Amino acid sequence: MSTPERVIVLDIEGTTTSISFVYDAMFPFVRRELDRYLDAHEGEPPMTADVALLRAQAEEDVAAGLEGAVPIPEDGAEGLMEAVRASVLWQMDNDRKTTGLKSLQGKIWKAGFESGELKGHVFEDVPGRLEAWAGAGVPVYIYSSGSVSAQKLLFGYSEAGDLTRYLDGYFDTRIGSKKEADSYRAIADEIGVAPETITFVTDNLAEAVAAREAGVEAILSLRPGNPALPQDHGFPTVTSLTEVP
Ligand SMILES: [Mg+2]
Repeated sequence: MSTPERVIVLDIEGTTTSISFVYDAMFPFVRRELDRYLDAHEGEPPMTADVALLRAQAEEDVAAGLEGAVPIPEDGAEGLMEAVRASVLWQMDNDRKTTGLKSLQGKIWKAGFESGELKGHVFEDVPGRLEAWAGAGVPVYIYSSGSVSAQKLLFGYSEAGDLTRYLDGYFDTRIGSKKEADSYRAIADEIGVAPETITFVTDNLAEAVAAREAGVEAILSLRPGNPALPQDHGFPTVTSLTEVP
């Protein structure tokens, strides 16, 4: 494939998708389905692997003296699942993004998206714009702090159907923090283009600053429900992806 002249990289929350979808639909779904999921999969290898991660995390948290951290007993011990449940809810109450929690949440979301109980929110302009970019030969990538597997679920089972056919790839924080310029350099390297080729759209000013520091063109997304931006931030803004030049 020849090197593209232009590449689009999109943030999710506050850019393609309302921030409230994550907090009002995805996280509450995990809380609602947790008991049923734990009961249905207790003792199965994928679950015991997640429980081991959660147990190691809990040991770390208890050792660090974190108030409310819930220790998890060994496999087969009495009260194991109650402890797992309490540990997961405590982590979620504290907005943790630990590996064990993300892995378990990911499995619950996967079941929800596949059954149709969850559908990924995308703003109205998103499907048409993705299709237009694809038609014009402009590659589009996603860069979000949500895991790549969660990103694929959101776009694969969106309110507008499967949008993954318009997407060329996905990045999460394994490539680095969204607030570090090096992450945008690494993304350009991975795609195989110069940073100057990339247009990055995000609602977050610190992310836009980091992208620009790397040489990427950054555009700020203004969507309903986004937190207000400071005045004089110095970036172009759009209220819809159709306004991205
Ligand atoms: Mg965002």
